[in-house]
Amino acid sequence: MSYVLRCIACGAEYPPGEIRASCDCGGLLDVRHDLSSLPVSRELFDERLNRWDPENPIYRSGVWRFRELVLPVEESKIVSRPEGNTHLYRSERLSRWAGLEELYLKHEGENPTGSFKDRGMTVGVTQARLLGCRAVACASTGNTSASMAAYAALAGLSAIVFIPQGKIALGKLAQALAYGAKTLEVEGDFDAAMGLVRKLCEKLGIYLLNSLNPFRIEGQKTIVFELIQQLGWEAPDWIVLPAGNLGNTSAFGKALGELIDLGLIERLPRLAAVQARGANPFYRSFREGFRRRERVKAQTIATAIRIGDPVSYPRAVRALRLTRGLVVEVTDQEIMDAKAQVDAAGIGCEPASAAAVAGTRRLVQEGTIKQGERVVAILTGNLLKDPQATIAYHLGELPGIEPAYANRPLAIEPTLEAVKEVL
Ligand SMILES: *Cc1c(COP(=O)(O)O)cnc(C)c1O
Ligand SMILES: [Zn+2]
Repeated sequence: MSYVLRCIACGAEYPPGEIRASCDCGGLLDVRHDLSSLPVSRELFDERLNRWDPENPIYRSGVWRFRELVLPVEESKIVSRPEGNTHLYRSERLSRWAGLEELYLKHEGENPTGSFKDRGMTVGVTQARLLGCRAVACASTGNTSASMAAYAALAGLSAIVFIPQGKIALGKLAQALAYGAKTLEVEGDFDAAMGLVRKLCEKLGIYLLNSLNPFRIEGQKTIVFELIQQLGWEAPDWIVLPAGNLGNTSAFGKALGELIDLGLIERLPRLAAVQARGANPFYRSFREGFRRRERVKAQTIATAIRIGDPVSYPRAVRALRLTRGLVVEVTDQEIMDAKAQVDAAGIGCEPASAAAVAGTRRLVQEGTIKQGERVVAILTGNLLKDPQATIAYHLGELPGIEPAYANRPLAIEPTLEAVKEVL
């Protein structure tokens, strides 16, 4: 195997076949590929994308197309739906609204279970199977549990999910139950559920599939690989993404570092991580030059990023330093108005995803992002994940939020006159 697991805190290395969630020192682990020996090129990835290869159906996946940079593994062992190959939209309406000439939206809500978590999960569950684990677990604000439940079911593994009671969106809870995961509603928030699942996995030898798992990060890197491939291997100026537990921010930084090292791109885009104002520990740390790791009690309508103590903090700091990145915060009002704009453009997303667009708009208004720069915002999850938040917005029923773009349903009598009156 051409990789090792390396601790990002102390540098200790572990062989690929070892089952462990973190280093003996408590630090997070990274998958380190030997990039110098990898026979990869733009042409190789383009050829796989453009050709249906019956010998290698796995290249149909937007994750496994980049397999050398993800996980060197035999094809027959891979658990794939397949995932990825999500669209890169360009909307004039949204570009104008954000104040840009070129805003692209990469829609990760088009993955098999409706969020980017599938890109990490195909790799995490494949690794669980390789290691011979029979059960997998995670704490989740919803999408991780939906994705893990689906991939575990595909692989024939049992799945245990820990969710904060009453704080996950309806569509996500439905998925976890439907895919057959044992679903435990923790009386507490995500951070409490996270602490609990870490202890459980350690005690019972269950494979932990939160984004502190380094193999999930490897899969999520392909969001960046794929979007840069879709732009003809030309890096954009900015990549803007919502930030919760900071797994994706970490994955994006790692992906960009590897693309530069491999010579697959010539320059680094800047990363902009967007947090909700009520769940902004990373933003607080950023404001202080990352001198301190901040923790908060999290509160936001964007449940997917309602996290007060992000697990991947040190990796994400590294990602921002590498890319001259920054963190910005937006209010729930801005998030829901941005969502209404994304939705009304015919694209649609869940609340946390809209934070990327709200953050883009704010950075343009501040003058940090220039009007002519090329920006890709990541839509992390599907519109149908959280119907309650969407409907409450349009009905004007969200406490503290004035819906600027409400589209209320109109009740009418069953007569033509009544219809004429409201049109
Ligand atoms: C998980 C998730 C996020 C947050 O990603 P992190 O890697 O935890 O920072 C954002 N949006 C959606 C829809 C998610 O499911
Ligand atoms: Zn260590």
